[in-house]
Amino acid sequence: MGGYGTRDFARTRRCNLLVCLLLVCLGAVGMRPASAKGRKSIMAFLDRGVRGLLLTELISGMALTLRYMFKPSVTVNYPYEKGPISARFRGEHALRRYPNGEERCIACKLCEAICPALAITIEAEPRDDGSRRTTRYDIDMTKCIYCGLCAEACPVDAIVEGPNFEFATETREELFYNKEKLLSNGDRWESEIAHNLVVDAPYR
Ligand code: SF4
Ligand code: SF4
Repeated sequence: MGGYGTRDFARTRRCNLLVCLLLVCLGAVGMRPASAKGRKSIMAFLDRGVRGLLLTELISGMALTLRYMFKPSVTVNYPYEKGPISARFRGEHALRRYPNGEERCIACKLCEAICPALAITIEAEPRDDGSRRTTRYDIDMTKCIYCGLCAEACPVDAIVEGPNFEFATETREELFYNKEKLLSNGDRWESEIAHNLVVDAPYR
């Protein structure tokens, strides 16, 4: 199947020209179509013919292109440029620490209980100083639906969904996050996470 080529275009133009001439002749000798519907379709045909002859659609398309050539670009050259992200964006999970380096998580297991995808697994035991901390904190990111309920349930803002959305992996195993991975995410993104929590605080 061939496309609508230059030869077809030239043939259409010749046909349009002939029809125009014919109609002009008909008008000249007083032979008018009887019905209003017939007149309307002839006018539409004439209109199309004149547009084709004068290349108006081509010219208006070129003018549109020219107009947008001098406007600021609306596209982003990702990954070198990135668009803004909401403070409420729910990206990759992270476990946070206090400024002195101590883990925030107190192993209350509220996040584990509320997770609708059963993606979180926590084990805990008391430390020598009597404080309760997790010995295991896993998130199966292949199950997670990024609902944010774990972060909402946490009483100490320990588990959060940070701004990072670039954590695609090549294997499923890389998406089984353990406590070490989550804490390193927290260390890496702490300044952005803390800023987002402050910005969002009036609405919580
Ligand atoms: S974001 Fe939702 S699904 Fe994912 S770990 Fe948290 S509670 Fe579970
Ligand atoms: S992350 Fe928060 S909600 Fe989950 S166990 Fe730790 S303190 Fe509790």
